[in-house]
Amino acid sequence: MSKKIRKTNSRFLRVKCSDCGNEQVIFGCAASTVKCLVCEKVLAIPTGGKAIIKTEILEVLDKNL
Ligand SMILES: [Zn+2]
Repeated sequence: MSKKIRKTNSRFLRVKCSDCGNEQVIFGCAASTVKCLVCEKVLAIPTGGKAIIKTEILEVLDKNL
């Protein structure tokens, strides 16, 4: 009955670029600025912890490695 809930830092976000509509998966704790692969709009800005997401988040994907 007792499932261990793992704290995961490996949280990925599926986002949609608000400029060109491109969807891509980015790391929620990105250590560097993440840009859209198509138009190079800045999608996420690192803050030392969680990244600030500058565009629309479609889905949060939890992946345990
Ligand atoms: Zn874009």
